[in-house]
Amino acid sequence: MKETRVRFAPSPTGYLHIGGLRTALYDFLFAKKYNGKFVLRIEDTDRNRLVEGAVENLISSLTQLDLIIDEGPHTGGEYGPYVQSERLELYHQHADLLLKSGHAYHCFCSSETLDTMRLGQQERKEFVKYDRRCLQLSAAEVSAKLAANETHVIRLKMPDEHKFRFDDLIRGTVEMDAAQSDDQVIVKSDGFPTYHLAAVVDDHFMQISHVIRGEEWLSSTPKHIWLYQCLGWEAPIWIHLPLILNTDRSKLSKRMNDVSVESYIQKGYLKEALINFIALLGWHASEDREIYTLEELCQEFSIERVSKSGAVFDLTKLDWMNGQYIRSLPLDTIAERCHPYFESSGIDTSDHVKLLKIIDIARERITLLPEIVEYSKIFYLTKDLDAADQDILDNEISQTVLKWFLESVQANLPLDRDKVHKLVSDGMAALQIKGKNYYTPLRLALIGQAHGPDMPATFDILGDAEVILRLGRAIR
Ligand code: GLU
Repeated sequence: MKETRVRFAPSPTGYLHIGGLRTALYDFLFAKKYNGKFVLRIEDTDRNRLVEGAVENLISSLTQLDLIIDEGPHTGGEYGPYVQSERLELYHQHADLLLKSGHAYHCFCSSETLDTMRLGQQERKEFVKYDRRCLQLSAAEVSAKLAANETHVIRLKMPDEHKFRFDDLIRGTVEMDAAQSDDQVIVKSDGFPTYHLAAVVDDHFMQISHVIRGEEWLSSTPKHIWLYQCLGWEAPIWIHLPLILNTDRSKLSKRMNDVSVESYIQKGYLKEALINFIALLGWHASEDREIYTLEELCQEFSIERVSKSGAVFDLTKLDWMNGQYIRSLPLDTIAERCHPYFESSGIDTSDHVKLLKIIDIARERITLLPEIVEYSKIFYLTKDLDAADQDILDNEISQTVLKWFLESVQANLPLDRDKVHKLVSDGMAALQIKGKNYYTPLRLALIGQAHGPDMPATFDILGDAEVILRLGRAIR
């Protein structure tokens, strides 16, 4: 059997976005499932849309998410180079072959000529496509124009009467009429191939077995099939993934901040949650289950269970999933992932045991990683109370509670959670104070706010010395 080889073929026109990540992830899972290869190919033939740093960003985003690339610009491989602008010679050779076999022709029409032509077709309510006027040129006329260096493109001559019929692993048999296909430009006036020629040539020479890409490319597939046919090659197996939709079912927002993968990572979504969430954008498992690690996905994933209909990008579900992972990953992992956020906040987290205790409590209450930093401030910093809270702290009942606690703590050192638990009930009985009157002064003194974790945890996290210091400071 032929080796399974799939490629993710982004254009370096910006950062990796949610849609691109979904394609890359499905490519990766499909390759892993069949012990195949996951290839990264950079499609940079549209020179006007290149964005500096985009290739590095794509690679680093994929790597950060553990989607290990088997062959690509940075790793090399048997079928390189993996950047289209380094493969121009190959495209020119094949454009020449197509010209020689009569499957392609030179077109010298200016953009003004084309505009006028299209306008006429629109007015006559005709299908808008190139009217092939340059196909009427004689060989001598073409040679003369080429010799005179006239600006030109090369077009693929599509068949006139033809029904394209192909199988798509998600959509089943797809039929499209050739009459709906324009004579596609395959080499542009700048000498660069268009996506269509370059992708077909590369998919062939890189021995890609399955082309997995977004639904927006479905209408281009007949052109590609035709190119394979004209070049005498076997076409790969086609897989067109469903669109990704907003919750109102419109096409997913293109605003970069809403869809760039990096911005999700920066906001504090965990890679495990992102991968899990993205995997479910169009695919569902055989069982009624939603939480999958990447390894599990590699086993479970199957194209047969990718749906044809659009997949809704539901941020509340991502938030929920992120919370699930924040609560279930090892504490040390969460601590490590929070490190950069703590660092930029200037908080000293060198007491690792204390940090882990805080995370253990905080993670039950948050959705995004940086929220841990905000939450933990009560244990690391002391904040000034506002006047109302200060009044509560200063009143007689509060002061009674605080004094009793300071004395009892000092008499019971070192504290542990059980001792604190007992102290809390002993104090209540001894002082005959309960509820808010009892807990609020303690919390205001210890953590600067009226609500927070339970007392044994609070005492434990702060540690004996800090508890004594904070209680002492609150006593008038
Ligand atoms: N370069 C195309 C893109 O940016 C790739 C389409 C394909 O996978 O064939 O989406």
